[in-house]
Amino acid sequence: MERKIYLTNSLSRKKELFVPINKGMVGLYVCGPTVYGDPHLGHARPGITYDILVRLFRFLGYKVRYVRNITDVGHLVGDVDSGEDKIAVKAKLEQLEPMEIAQIYTLSYHATMRKLNTLPPSIEPRASGHIMEQIDLVQNILDNGFAYESNGSIYFDVLAYNKKFHYGVLSGRKVEDLLANTRTLDGQSDKKSPMDFALWKKAAPEHIMKWKSPWSLGFPGWHAECSAMSAKYLGDEFDIHGGGMDLLFPHHECEIAQNTASRGKSGVHYWMHNNMVTINGQKMGKSLGNFITLNELFNGTHKALERAYSPMTIRFFILQAHYRSTLDFSNAALQAAEKGLKRMLNAMKDVKNLSTVSGDNTNENILKIQDEVMTALCDDLNTPIALSHLFDAVKIVNQVKDGSLQITENDKTNLTNLLVDINTKVLGLEEENSSDESEGLVDGLVNMILDVRKDSKAKKDFATSDLIRDKLNQLGIQIKDTKDGAEWSIM
Ligand code: ZN
Repeated sequence: MERKIYLTNSLSRKKELFVPINKGMVGLYVCGPTVYGDPHLGHARPGITYDILVRLFRFLGYKVRYVRNITDVGHLVGDVDSGEDKIAVKAKLEQLEPMEIAQIYTLSYHATMRKLNTLPPSIEPRASGHIMEQIDLVQNILDNGFAYESNGSIYFDVLAYNKKFHYGVLSGRKVEDLLANTRTLDGQSDKKSPMDFALWKKAAPEHIMKWKSPWSLGFPGWHAECSAMSAKYLGDEFDIHGGGMDLLFPHHECEIAQNTASRGKSGVHYWMHNNMVTINGQKMGKSLGNFITLNELFNGTHKALERAYSPMTIRFFILQAHYRSTLDFSNAALQAAEKGLKRMLNAMKDVKNLSTVSGDNTNENILKIQDEVMTALCDDLNTPIALSHLFDAVKIVNQVKDGSLQITENDKTNLTNLLVDINTKVLGLEEENSSDESEGLVDGLVNMILDVRKDSKAKKDFATSDLIRDKLNQLGIQIKDTKDGAEWSIM
Protein backbone atom coordinates (compact mmCIF):
# COMPACT_ATOMS: atom_id res chain seq x y z
CA MET A 1 0.00 0.00 0.00
CA GLU A 2 3.03 2.25 -0.19
CA ARG A 3 1.93 3.70 -3.52
CA LYS A 4 0.13 7.02 -3.35
CA ILE A 5 -3.02 7.49 -5.41
CA TYR A 6 -3.99 10.84 -6.86
CA LEU A 7 -7.52 11.57 -8.02
CA THR A 8 -9.03 14.64 -9.64
CA ASN A 9 -11.61 15.89 -7.17
CA SER A 10 -14.48 17.65 -8.94
CA LEU A 11 -15.02 19.69 -5.75
CA SER A 12 -11.62 21.38 -5.83
CA ARG A 13 -11.17 20.82 -9.60
CA LYS A 14 -7.63 19.67 -8.73
CA LYS A 15 -5.70 16.46 -8.54
CA GLU A 16 -5.47 15.50 -4.88
CA LEU A 17 -3.67 12.83 -2.89
CA PHE A 18 -6.22 10.21 -1.90
CA VAL A 19 -6.42 9.63 1.85
CA PRO A 20 -9.13 7.19 2.95
CA ILE A 21 -11.26 8.00 6.00
CA ASN A 22 -10.69 4.51 7.39
CA LYS A 23 -7.22 3.11 6.84
CA GLY A 24 -7.29 0.31 4.29
CA MET A 25 -11.04 0.57 3.57
CA VAL A 26 -12.44 2.65 0.75
CA GLY A 27 -16.12 3.61 0.55
CA LEU A 28 -17.23 4.22 -3.04
CA TYR A 29 -20.70 5.18 -4.24
CA VAL A 30 -21.48 5.32 -7.96
CA CYS A 31 -24.78 6.43 -9.50
CA GLY A 32 -26.08 3.42 -11.39
CA PRO A 33 -28.57 3.16 -14.26
CA THR A 34 -32.22 4.10 -14.44
CA VAL A 35 -33.54 0.76 -15.60
CA TYR A 36 -35.96 1.49 -18.45
CA GLY A 37 -33.95 0.44 -21.51
CA ASP A 38 -31.06 -1.70 -22.68
CA PRO A 39 -27.66 -0.38 -21.61
CA HIS A 40 -25.90 1.72 -24.24
CA LEU A 41 -22.46 3.18 -24.81
CA GLY A 42 -23.09 5.84 -22.18
CA HIS A 43 -23.35 3.10 -19.54
CA ALA A 44 -20.13 1.36 -20.55
CA ARG A 45 -17.93 4.30 -19.67
CA PRO A 46 -18.77 4.76 -15.97
CA GLY A 47 -19.15 0.97 -15.67
CA ILE A 48 -15.55 0.45 -16.79
CA THR A 49 -14.03 3.59 -15.22
CA TYR A 50 -15.16 2.79 -11.68
CA ASP A 51 -14.37 -0.88 -12.24
CA ILE A 52 -10.72 0.10 -12.86
CA LEU A 53 -10.76 2.25 -9.74
CA VAL A 54 -12.07 -0.64 -7.61
CA ARG A 55 -9.61 -3.10 -9.16
CA LEU A 56 -6.68 -0.73 -8.63
CA PHE A 57 -7.53 -0.19 -4.95
CA ARG A 58 -7.89 -3.93 -4.41
CA PHE A 59 -4.63 -4.62 -6.30
CA LEU A 60 -2.88 -2.22 -3.93
CA GLY A 61 -4.27 -4.00 -0.89
CA TYR A 62 -7.26 -1.84 0.02
CA LYS A 63 -10.68 -3.25 0.80
CA VAL A 64 -13.41 -1.48 -1.14
CA ARG A 65 -17.10 -1.25 -0.37
CA TYR A 66 -18.49 -0.45 -3.80
CA VAL A 67 -22.13 0.66 -3.75
CA ARG A 68 -23.89 1.23 -7.07
CA ASN A 69 -27.61 1.91 -7.03
CA ILE A 70 -30.43 0.96 -9.35
CA THR A 71 -32.91 3.75 -10.04
CA ASP A 72 -36.32 2.17 -10.41
CA VAL A 73 -38.57 5.01 -9.29
CA GLY A 74 -38.67 8.80 -9.22
CA HIS A 75 -36.58 9.54 -12.32
CA LEU A 76 -38.97 11.52 -14.49
CA VAL A 77 -38.88 12.06 -18.25
CA GLY A 78 -36.56 14.95 -19.11
CA ASP A 79 -34.81 14.72 -15.70
CA VAL A 80 -37.22 17.37 -14.36
CA ASP A 81 -39.45 17.09 -11.34
CA SER A 82 -42.92 17.00 -12.72
CA GLY A 83 -44.42 14.71 -15.30
CA GLU A 84 -44.17 11.03 -15.98
CA ASP A 85 -41.79 8.44 -14.54
CA LYS A 86 -39.40 7.03 -17.18
CA ILE A 87 -40.07 3.47 -16.04
CA ALA A 88 -43.86 3.95 -15.93
CA VAL A 89 -43.83 5.33 -19.51
CA LYS A 90 -41.99 2.25 -20.74
CA ALA A 91 -44.30 -0.02 -18.71
CA LYS A 92 -47.36 1.48 -20.40
CA LEU A 93 -45.75 1.07 -23.80
CA GLU A 94 -44.91 -2.58 -23.21
CA GLN A 95 -48.09 -3.32 -21.22
CA LEU A 96 -46.11 -4.55 -18.24
CA GLU A 97 -45.87 -3.64 -14.56
CA PRO A 98 -43.25 -0.94 -13.85
CA MET A 99 -41.39 -3.42 -11.64
CA GLU A 100 -41.31 -5.91 -14.52
CA ILE A 101 -39.63 -3.24 -16.64
CA ALA A 102 -37.17 -2.54 -13.83
CA GLN A 103 -36.42 -6.25 -13.52
CA ILE A 104 -35.97 -6.84 -17.27
CA TYR A 105 -33.52 -3.97 -17.65
CA THR A 106 -31.68 -4.65 -14.40
CA LEU A 107 -30.97 -8.15 -15.70
CA SER A 108 -30.00 -6.76 -19.07
CA TYR A 109 -27.63 -4.28 -17.38
CA HIS A 110 -26.04 -7.02 -15.29
CA ALA A 111 -25.55 -9.32 -18.28
CA THR A 112 -23.95 -6.52 -20.31
CA MET A 113 -21.67 -5.40 -17.49
CA ARG A 114 -20.56 -9.01 -17.04
CA LYS A 115 -19.68 -9.22 -20.73
CA LEU A 116 -17.55 -6.09 -20.30
CA ASN A 117 -15.76 -7.94 -17.48
CA THR A 118 -16.69 -5.41 -14.79
CA LEU A 119 -16.85 -6.66 -11.21
CA PRO A 120 -20.26 -6.52 -9.53
CA PRO A 121 -20.72 -3.89 -6.80
CA SER A 122 -20.57 -4.97 -3.15
CA ILE A 123 -24.08 -3.63 -2.59
CA GLU A 124 -26.64 -2.72 -5.26
CA PRO A 125 -29.54 -0.95 -3.53
CA ARG A 126 -32.77 -0.06 -5.33
CA ALA A 127 -34.56 3.24 -4.84
CA SER A 128 -37.93 1.48 -4.45
CA GLY A 129 -36.49 -0.63 -1.63
CA HIS A 130 -35.42 2.45 0.34
CA ILE A 131 -38.56 4.58 0.53
CA MET A 132 -38.45 4.73 4.37
CA GLU A 133 -34.86 6.00 4.31
CA GLN A 134 -35.83 8.66 1.77
CA ILE A 135 -38.83 9.75 3.85
CA ASP A 136 -36.48 10.08 6.85
CA LEU A 137 -34.10 12.19 4.79
CA VAL A 138 -36.90 14.50 3.65
CA GLN A 139 -38.24 14.79 7.22
CA ASN A 140 -34.77 15.79 8.48
CA ILE A 141 -34.44 18.46 5.82
CA LEU A 142 -37.93 19.77 6.70
CA ASP A 143 -37.11 19.77 10.42
CA ASN A 144 -33.92 21.73 9.73
CA GLY A 145 -35.86 24.40 7.84
CA PHE A 146 -34.46 23.80 4.35
CA ALA A 147 -37.63 22.47 2.73
CA TYR A 148 -41.33 23.28 2.60
CA GLU A 149 -44.58 21.53 1.85
CA SER A 150 -46.77 22.62 -1.00
CA ASN A 151 -49.96 20.73 -1.96
CA GLY A 152 -48.66 17.44 -0.58
CA SER A 153 -45.25 17.73 -2.27
CA ILE A 154 -42.03 18.69 -0.49
CA TYR A 155 -39.50 20.95 -2.17
CA PHE A 156 -35.94 21.79 -1.25
CA ASP A 157 -35.69 25.51 -0.45
CA VAL A 158 -32.56 26.52 -2.36
CA LEU A 159 -32.64 30.18 -1.26
CA ALA A 160 -33.00 29.31 2.44
CA TYR A 161 -30.17 26.80 2.11
CA ASN A 162 -27.96 29.22 0.24
CA LYS A 163 -28.18 31.75 3.08
CA LYS A 164 -26.24 29.34 5.26
CA PHE A 165 -24.35 27.15 2.78
CA HIS A 166 -23.31 27.45 -0.85
CA TYR A 167 -25.66 25.91 -3.37
CA GLY A 168 -23.49 25.36 -6.46
CA VAL A 169 -20.28 24.39 -4.67
CA LEU A 170 -19.69 21.39 -6.95
CA SER A 171 -20.67 22.82 -10.31
CA GLY A 172 -19.20 26.26 -9.62
CA ARG A 173 -22.58 27.91 -10.13
CA LYS A 174 -23.89 30.88 -8.22
CA VAL A 175 -27.50 31.17 -7.14
CA GLU A 176 -27.81 34.66 -8.66
CA ASP A 177 -26.72 33.35 -12.08
CA LEU A 178 -28.96 30.32 -11.78
CA LEU A 179 -31.91 32.54 -11.00
CA ALA A 180 -31.18 34.75 -14.00
CA ASN A 181 -31.04 31.70 -16.25
CA THR A 182 -34.12 29.80 -15.10
CA ARG A 183 -37.55 30.42 -16.42
CA THR A 184 -39.86 32.20 -14.02
CA LEU A 185 -42.66 30.14 -12.55
CA ASP A 186 -45.92 30.16 -14.45
CA GLY A 187 -48.12 30.58 -11.38
CA GLN A 188 -49.28 26.97 -11.65
CA SER A 189 -46.19 25.66 -9.89
CA ASP A 190 -46.11 24.55 -6.28
CA LYS A 191 -42.57 25.86 -5.94
CA LYS A 192 -41.45 29.09 -4.29
CA SER A 193 -38.47 29.45 -6.60
CA PRO A 194 -37.75 27.81 -9.98
CA MET A 195 -34.43 26.54 -8.57
CA ASP A 196 -36.15 24.49 -5.86
CA PHE A 197 -36.24 20.76 -6.50
CA ALA A 198 -38.63 18.03 -5.45
CA LEU A 199 -37.79 15.87 -2.44
CA TRP A 200 -41.21 14.19 -2.40
CA LYS A 201 -43.95 14.41 -5.00
CA LYS A 202 -47.62 13.90 -4.43
CA ALA A 203 -48.72 11.35 -7.03
CA ALA A 204 -51.39 12.13 -9.57
CA PRO A 205 -54.25 9.58 -9.44
CA GLU A 206 -53.01 7.79 -12.58
CA HIS A 207 -49.45 7.50 -11.24
CA ILE A 208 -48.70 3.83 -10.57
CA MET A 209 -45.66 3.79 -8.27
CA LYS A 210 -46.64 5.54 -5.04
CA TRP A 211 -46.14 5.11 -1.33
CA LYS A 212 -47.59 6.47 1.92
CA SER A 213 -45.72 9.32 3.55
CA PRO A 214 -46.54 11.90 6.23
CA TRP A 215 -47.35 14.37 3.44
CA SER A 216 -49.15 12.49 0.69
CA LEU A 217 -49.43 9.30 -1.26
CA GLY A 218 -46.50 9.88 -3.55
CA PHE A 219 -42.93 9.09 -4.52
CA PRO A 220 -39.45 10.44 -3.77
CA GLY A 221 -37.68 13.00 -5.94
CA TRP A 222 -34.91 11.58 -8.13
CA HIS A 223 -32.02 13.08 -6.13
CA ALA A 224 -33.22 11.79 -2.74
CA GLU A 225 -32.31 8.14 -3.26
CA CYS A 226 -28.55 8.63 -3.60
CA SER A 227 -28.30 10.77 -0.44
CA ALA A 228 -30.36 8.25 1.53
CA MET A 229 -28.69 5.07 0.26
CA SER A 230 -25.08 6.30 0.32
CA ALA A 231 -25.51 7.33 3.97
CA LYS A 232 -27.16 4.02 4.82
CA TYR A 233 -24.40 1.83 3.39
CA LEU A 234 -21.30 4.02 3.61
CA GLY A 235 -22.05 6.33 6.54
CA ASP A 236 -22.59 10.08 6.91
CA GLU A 237 -19.14 10.68 5.51
CA PHE A 238 -17.48 8.51 2.92
CA ASP A 239 -14.54 8.57 0.52
CA ILE A 240 -15.55 8.72 -3.13
CA HIS A 241 -18.72 9.43 -5.10
CA GLY A 242 -18.57 8.82 -8.81
CA GLY A 243 -20.76 9.20 -11.85
CA GLY A 244 -20.97 10.63 -15.35
CA MET A 245 -20.31 14.32 -15.92
CA ASP A 246 -23.95 14.74 -16.99
CA LEU A 247 -24.93 14.00 -13.38
CA LEU A 248 -22.74 16.72 -11.87
CA PHE A 249 -25.54 19.26 -12.13
CA PRO A 250 -28.20 19.11 -10.91
CA HIS A 251 -28.10 15.54 -9.54
CA HIS A 252 -24.87 15.63 -7.53
CA GLU A 253 -25.24 19.29 -6.62
CA CYS A 254 -28.63 18.43 -5.13
CA GLU A 255 -27.15 15.44 -3.30
CA ILE A 256 -24.59 17.70 -1.59
CA ALA A 257 -27.35 20.15 -0.65
CA GLN A 258 -29.55 17.33 0.71
CA ASN A 259 -26.66 15.80 2.69
CA THR A 260 -25.70 19.12 4.20
CA ALA A 261 -29.29 20.16 4.92
CA SER A 262 -30.13 16.86 6.60
CA ARG A 263 -26.97 16.11 8.57
CA GLY A 264 -24.79 19.19 8.53
CA LYS A 265 -22.02 17.81 6.31
CA SER A 266 -21.69 17.37 2.59
CA GLY A 267 -20.70 13.74 3.18
CA VAL A 268 -18.31 13.06 0.29
CA HIS A 269 -14.55 13.63 0.31
CA TYR A 270 -13.80 13.08 -3.39
CA TRP A 271 -16.18 13.57 -6.29
CA MET A 272 -15.17 11.89 -9.54
CA HIS A 273 -16.80 12.36 -12.93
CA ASN A 274 -16.19 10.49 -16.15
CA ASN A 275 -16.62 12.41 -19.39
CA MET A 276 -19.16 11.65 -22.08
CA VAL A 277 -19.16 9.46 -25.16
CA THR A 278 -19.66 10.88 -28.65
CA ILE A 279 -20.26 9.02 -31.90
CA ASN A 280 -18.47 10.29 -34.98
CA GLY A 281 -18.08 13.59 -33.14
CA GLN A 282 -21.77 13.92 -32.32
CA LYS A 283 -23.56 13.62 -29.02
CA MET A 284 -25.40 10.32 -28.76
CA GLY A 285 -29.17 10.72 -28.91
CA LYS A 286 -32.26 8.88 -30.04
CA SER A 287 -33.28 11.77 -32.31
CA LEU A 288 -29.89 11.75 -34.07
CA GLY A 289 -30.23 8.06 -35.02
CA ASN A 290 -26.86 7.26 -33.47
CA PHE A 291 -28.15 5.77 -30.25
CA ILE A 292 -26.30 2.44 -30.02
CA THR A 293 -26.97 -0.14 -27.33
CA LEU A 294 -24.10 -2.31 -26.17
CA ASN A 295 -25.79 -5.43 -27.47
CA GLU A 296 -26.05 -3.82 -30.91
CA LEU A 297 -22.31 -3.19 -30.73
CA PHE A 298 -21.60 -6.77 -29.69
CA ASN A 299 -23.84 -8.12 -32.48
CA GLY A 300 -23.07 -5.49 -35.12
CA THR A 301 -26.79 -4.91 -35.72
CA HIS A 302 -26.92 -1.09 -35.74
CA LYS A 303 -26.85 0.59 -39.15
CA ALA A 304 -23.98 2.85 -38.09
CA LEU A 305 -21.75 -0.18 -37.51
CA GLU A 306 -19.65 -1.79 -40.21
CA ARG A 307 -19.57 -4.98 -38.14
CA ALA A 308 -19.69 -6.40 -34.61
CA TYR A 309 -17.17 -5.43 -31.92
CA SER A 310 -16.48 -7.71 -28.99
CA PRO A 311 -17.04 -6.57 -25.39
CA MET A 312 -13.28 -6.74 -24.74
CA THR A 313 -12.66 -4.47 -27.73
CA ILE A 314 -15.08 -1.94 -26.25
CA ARG A 315 -13.34 -2.23 -22.89
CA PHE A 316 -9.89 -1.74 -24.44
CA PHE A 317 -11.16 1.18 -26.49
CA ILE A 318 -12.53 2.93 -23.38
CA LEU A 319 -9.21 2.39 -21.58
CA GLN A 320 -7.35 4.07 -24.43
CA ALA A 321 -8.76 7.45 -23.35
CA HIS A 322 -8.44 9.14 -19.99
CA TYR A 323 -11.77 9.00 -18.16
CA ARG A 324 -11.93 12.80 -17.93
CA SER A 325 -11.65 13.28 -21.72
CA THR A 326 -14.49 12.86 -24.15
CA LEU A 327 -14.34 9.65 -26.13
CA ASP A 328 -15.40 9.45 -29.74
CA PHE A 329 -16.66 6.18 -31.16
CA SER A 330 -16.19 5.41 -34.84
CA ASN A 331 -15.71 2.23 -36.83
CA ALA A 332 -12.11 3.19 -37.60
CA ALA A 333 -11.28 3.83 -33.95
CA LEU A 334 -12.88 0.56 -32.84
CA GLN A 335 -11.00 -1.40 -35.49
CA ALA A 336 -7.73 0.17 -34.33
CA ALA A 337 -8.58 -0.77 -30.74
CA GLU A 338 -9.29 -4.32 -31.83
CA LYS A 339 -5.80 -4.58 -33.37
CA GLY A 340 -4.16 -3.12 -30.26
CA LEU A 341 -6.03 -5.50 -28.01
CA LYS A 342 -4.98 -8.46 -30.14
CA ARG A 343 -1.31 -7.47 -29.88
CA MET A 344 -1.65 -7.17 -26.11
CA LEU A 345 -3.46 -10.49 -25.71
CA ASN A 346 -0.90 -12.25 -27.92
CA ALA A 347 1.95 -10.92 -25.79
CA MET A 348 0.14 -12.06 -22.63
CA LYS A 349 0.09 -15.59 -24.09
CA ASP A 350 3.61 -15.50 -25.56
CA VAL A 351 5.30 -14.26 -22.41
CA LYS A 352 4.62 -17.58 -20.69
CA ASN A 353 6.46 -19.53 -23.42
CA LEU A 354 9.56 -17.33 -23.81
CA SER A 355 12.87 -19.11 -23.68
CA THR A 356 15.38 -17.83 -21.15
CA VAL A 357 19.14 -17.89 -20.63
CA SER A 358 20.85 -18.85 -17.41
CA GLY A 359 22.31 -16.24 -15.11
CA ASP A 360 20.96 -13.85 -12.55
CA ASN A 361 21.13 -10.60 -14.46
CA THR A 362 18.11 -8.34 -14.08
CA ASN A 363 16.71 -6.42 -17.02
CA GLU A 364 16.18 -3.04 -15.36
CA ASN A 365 14.04 -1.91 -18.25
CA ILE A 366 11.28 -4.36 -17.30
CA LEU A 367 11.24 -3.11 -13.70
CA LYS A 368 11.18 0.47 -14.95
CA ILE A 369 8.16 -0.24 -17.15
CA GLN A 370 6.39 -1.91 -14.26
CA ASP A 371 6.92 1.18 -12.15
CA GLU A 372 5.78 3.49 -14.95
CA VAL A 373 2.56 1.54 -15.48
CA MET A 374 1.63 1.64 -11.80
CA THR A 375 2.61 5.30 -11.51
CA ALA A 376 0.32 6.14 -14.44
CA LEU A 377 -2.60 4.21 -12.98
CA CYS A 378 -2.16 5.86 -9.59
CA ASP A 379 -1.98 9.25 -11.29
CA ASP A 380 -5.74 9.81 -11.63
CA LEU A 381 -6.29 6.47 -13.43
CA ASN A 382 -4.22 7.40 -16.45
CA THR A 383 -5.04 4.26 -18.43
CA PRO A 384 -3.82 5.55 -21.85
CA ILE A 385 -0.34 6.21 -20.46
CA ALA A 386 -0.37 2.87 -18.61
CA LEU A 387 -1.27 1.12 -21.88
CA SER A 388 1.49 2.86 -23.80
CA HIS A 389 4.02 1.58 -21.24
CA LEU A 390 2.51 -1.88 -21.39
CA PHE A 391 3.12 -1.82 -25.15
CA ASP A 392 6.80 -1.22 -24.35
CA ALA A 393 6.64 -4.55 -22.53
CA VAL A 394 4.94 -6.11 -25.56
CA LYS A 395 7.96 -4.96 -27.63
CA ILE A 396 10.31 -6.74 -25.22
CA VAL A 397 8.30 -9.96 -25.56
CA ASN A 398 8.54 -9.74 -29.35
CA GLN A 399 12.28 -9.04 -29.22
CA VAL A 400 12.85 -12.13 -27.09
CA LYS A 401 10.68 -14.12 -29.46
CA ASP A 402 12.66 -13.10 -32.56
CA GLY A 403 15.97 -13.67 -30.75
CA SER A 404 17.17 -10.06 -30.70
CA LEU A 405 17.03 -9.94 -26.89
CA GLN A 406 17.85 -12.47 -24.18
CA ILE A 407 16.26 -12.59 -20.75
CA THR A 408 16.80 -14.66 -17.62
CA GLU A 409 14.18 -16.70 -15.76
CA ASN A 410 13.97 -13.83 -13.27
CA ASP A 411 13.23 -11.33 -16.05
CA LYS A 412 10.58 -13.63 -17.41
CA THR A 413 8.83 -13.70 -14.03
CA ASN A 414 8.93 -9.89 -13.88
CA LEU A 415 7.66 -9.57 -17.43
CA THR A 416 4.83 -12.03 -16.73
CA ASN A 417 3.83 -10.16 -13.56
CA LEU A 418 3.76 -6.97 -15.55
CA LEU A 419 1.84 -8.16 -18.60
CA VAL A 420 -0.44 -10.79 -17.15
CA ASP A 421 -1.12 -9.53 -13.63
CA ILE A 422 -1.71 -5.88 -14.37
CA ASN A 423 -3.67 -6.51 -17.55
CA THR A 424 -6.00 -9.07 -16.02
CA LYS A 425 -6.27 -7.88 -12.42
CA VAL A 426 -6.28 -4.10 -12.84
CA LEU A 427 -7.27 -3.41 -16.43
CA GLY A 428 -9.55 -6.43 -16.63
CA LEU A 429 -8.26 -7.42 -20.08
CA GLU A 430 -8.74 -11.09 -20.82
CA GLU A 431 -8.97 -13.44 -23.74
CA GLU A 432 -12.59 -13.75 -24.79
CA ASN A 433 -14.18 -17.16 -25.14
CA SER A 434 -14.39 -17.10 -28.88
CA SER A 435 -16.84 -19.94 -29.15
CA ASP A 436 -18.38 -18.38 -32.26
CA GLU A 437 -19.55 -21.71 -33.58
CA SER A 438 -21.43 -22.76 -30.46
CA GLU A 439 -22.84 -19.24 -30.11
CA GLY A 440 -24.21 -19.51 -33.61
CA LEU A 441 -25.72 -22.83 -32.71
CA VAL A 442 -27.43 -21.39 -29.61
CA ASP A 443 -28.79 -18.48 -31.68
CA GLY A 444 -30.18 -20.86 -34.26
CA LEU A 445 -31.76 -23.16 -31.71
CA VAL A 446 -33.39 -20.41 -29.67
CA ASN A 447 -34.76 -18.74 -32.80
CA MET A 448 -36.15 -22.09 -33.95
CA ILE A 449 -37.85 -22.67 -30.58
CA LEU A 450 -39.29 -19.16 -30.69
CA ASP A 451 -40.71 -19.86 -34.15
CA VAL A 452 -42.51 -22.89 -32.72
CA ARG A 453 -43.78 -20.71 -29.88
CA LYS A 454 -45.04 -18.07 -32.33
CA ASP A 455 -46.84 -20.80 -34.19
CA SER A 456 -48.51 -22.14 -31.07
CA LYS A 457 -49.59 -18.64 -30.10
CA ALA A 458 -51.10 -18.14 -33.53
CA LYS A 459 -53.09 -21.33 -32.96
CA LYS A 460 -54.14 -19.97 -29.54
CA ASP A 461 -52.29 -22.80 -27.81
CA PHE A 462 -51.16 -20.56 -24.97
CA ALA A 463 -50.32 -23.46 -22.65
CA THR A 464 -47.53 -24.50 -25.01
CA SER A 465 -46.28 -20.96 -25.66
CA ASP A 466 -46.14 -20.27 -21.90
CA LEU A 467 -44.38 -23.58 -21.27
CA ILE A 468 -41.72 -22.73 -23.85
CA ARG A 469 -41.20 -19.30 -22.28
CA ASP A 470 -40.91 -20.76 -18.75
CA LYS A 471 -38.53 -23.54 -19.81
CA LEU A 472 -36.29 -21.04 -21.63
CA ASN A 473 -36.39 -18.83 -18.54
CA GLN A 474 -35.18 -21.75 -16.45
CA LEU A 475 -32.23 -22.08 -18.81
CA GLY A 476 -31.39 -18.42 -18.26
CA ILE A 477 -32.89 -17.14 -21.50
CA GLN A 478 -35.20 -14.20 -21.14
CA ILE A 479 -38.04 -13.69 -23.61
CA LYS A 480 -39.62 -10.34 -24.32
CA ASP A 481 -42.74 -10.35 -26.49
CA THR A 482 -42.87 -7.65 -29.11
CA LYS A 483 -45.34 -6.64 -31.79
CA ASP A 484 -43.65 -8.79 -34.44
CA GLY A 485 -42.76 -11.79 -32.33
CA ALA A 486 -40.25 -12.04 -29.51
CA GLU A 487 -36.79 -10.87 -28.57
CA TRP A 488 -34.51 -12.89 -26.37
CA SER A 489 -31.39 -12.40 -24.34
CA ILE A 490 -29.21 -14.51 -22.09
CA MET A 491 -29.61 -13.41 -18.46
ZN1 ZN B 1 -27.27 9.26 -8.02
